[in-house]
Formats: sequence, structure tokens, C-alpha cells
Amino acid sequence: MLQVIENIEKVKSRGKKPPPLDTLAQLGTDSLKKKATSKWFTQKLTKELLEIGSPLSKQYKRAYYCNQTLIQHDKNKITSKYCNSRACNLCNRIRTAKMMNGYILPLKELGDLQFVTLTEPNVKESELEECVRNQIKKISNIIEVLRKRRGINVSGIRKLECTINIVFNTYHPHVHLLVNKNCAPEFISEWLKRTPNAKLVAQHYKDADQNSLNELFKYTTKQYEIETENKTLEINVRSLDVILRAYNNKRTFQTFGEIRKIKVNEEVEELESQEYTDLPDYHYMEWEWKNKDWYNKYKEPLSNNIEPNIEIKARNKTYMKWTEKEKGIRQKEIDRNNKKNKENELLKEYQSIKIKYK
Ligand SMILES: [Zn+2]
Repeated sequence: MLQVIENIEKVKSRGKKPPPLDTLAQLGTDSLKKKATSKWFTQKLTKELLEIGSPLSKQYKRAYYCNQTLIQHDKNKITSKYCNSRACNLCNRIRTAKMMNGYILPLKELGDLQFVTLTEPNVKESELEECVRNQIKKISNIIEVLRKRRGINVSGIRKLECTINIVFNTYHPHVHLLVNKNCAPEFISEWLKRTPNAKLVAQHYKDADQNSLNELFKYTTKQYEIETENKTLEINVRSLDVILRAYNNKRTFQTFGEIRKIKVNEEVEELESQEYTDLPDYHYMEWEWKNKDWYNKYKEPLSNNIEPNIEIKARNKTYMKWTEKEKGIRQKEIDRNNKKNKENELLKEYQSIKIKYK
């Protein structure tokens, strides 16, 4: 925890102004290049997502064009238009920075924290959204019971995530919490009461450290890929879309207790301005994205970004065109396999992909 907090403190002590939004994401890094890589990746990803005809197509299109034009003004400032889609890595970087800037210090002030993971058995695609909705309800209900009936002054933050099992095409929505007052065991026992098919061994908690905080606030679609050898990224387009749809319009983060007083909005403003120290010497310039970098009218590149040497492969793009018969066959396969209960064995073999919905 402590390095991030030290970083925040360094930033704070440096000036009178609060740090700019993207400060944490930028700290000590080559930020324009990072931004260009995020833009490159977001375009590759959303191009694939756009091909499946999802109800979220409009959102994916916005993400495809996020930060398409950058306006350099006042010499060292850049203003650009953000899409606010959760499929967009550019916007997710801003979200992570906002969340960290807003919550880490107040969380630290709560004293010792515990990091809790609450799970339940995997669900099918068609069950995911309802399951997520129930998880949100269960957590608010548990918090209320702890506060009102047990008199525990519980404070903290909850975050929703989802992993997938690519072998069986099942989804694993779960909840992470940072909580005070050593009340992790209470959360687990209340969760089990409300989730009869959940197993005790699948619930976890530990004392929170820097990793748990970083883990909690990371907000990215990078985990949607399977990294294999040969510099190939395989994107499971179908599952990504299913998850984005299930969590669409739901709050990934929710605070409670003392932390509720702090208002940090998960949304990314349409226009964001950032300061950079390494911009070319122009007072005003428009930079337009093309393939791997932004260029001005003189064809000069802005970030000198080098296109990543990675091939993007999209898997599972055609599911929306499956016939009912095909779906039936697939479902029978899944049910049969589930019965055999070989899930865990097979998972190791197939190298499961961890998807975190941030
Ligand atoms: Zn965006």
C-alpha cells in the first residue's frame, strides 16, 4: 500500500494544487507513449467487439474513437475527448487514477484493513446478470445487518469482478471487499447464509497489503486476453461482451460507512485536460490518431510510439450466429462436463483465463 501512498504524499507535498486526475497513472512513466499503447490496444479490441453485433455496439464504437484527436494548447496541455466506456483502456486508466487518488488515503485512515473475496459456483451466460444483481443486493444487506443488528461500525469498499472458465464457458462473478474492524469472518458467514450453494473453502480473507489495494483499484480490460507464446494475444470476444453487458450500468465500486462520505465518480468526463512536460514546442496544435500514433499536419508523430509486436487473435466471435440446434449441442456438452466435475483438472490443462471486471 505504502508505495502508492508515499507517491500520493509526494505529489501532495509538491504543490498547493491537488494532483491532476491522471497523476497516478503517469507517475514516473513515459505517459504519452503509454497513452498511445492504450489507444492502440483499445482500437484492436473494440474492432473485434464491433463485429459481433452486440447491443453495446454504440459504446464500442465510442471507445474505438476515444482520444482520436488531441488538442495541444497552452504549450504543455492536451485536451481530448473521452468515451467513458468500460471497454476502453484509456478511460480505465483515468478511472484507476481517480479511484486511487480518492480512496487510498481515507482507507488508510480506517486503520487495519482486511481483504475479503466472496464467491459462489460458476453460472451460465444466461444467468450472469441476475447473479450479479443478487450479489449487489446481498452485500448491501450484509452491511446493513452488521451495522444495525450487530452494532459493528463497518466501513470500506466493495468491488465486483468476474472471471471466466473458457473450457466450460461459465462465468465466475465474485466480490472483493476492503473492510475494517476485523469483520471479514462476519462477512463470510453472512454471505454463506445468503448463498446456500457457496462453499466455505471458496471464501477467502487476509490482512490487506499494498498488493490488495493495487489489485482492488486496477481497472482494465487487459485481463480479457490470454497471453500465449509467440507474442499473440487471444481475445475471447464473446465472453468479454457477455461480461461488459452483465455489468453495464452497475457500479463496480461501492463504498460504505465512513468511506461513503468521499464522493468519487467512476465516470470519466467527456473532456479531460492533462499536462505533459515533454510536448513538442507548439502553442496550439491538433494531433490526429493513425494506426499507432497521433500526427500533426506536418506528419510529425506526437509520442514516437512503436507499434507493439503483438498479434491479436479473436476467439469465439460467431456465437451470436449460432443456431438453436448448435446452442443445444454445446449446452449438453457443458452439462455433461459439469457433471463429470472435472472442471478443476481441466482448468490447469487449458490455462484458465482470469478476467477481472473492473
Ligand atoms: Zn475511452
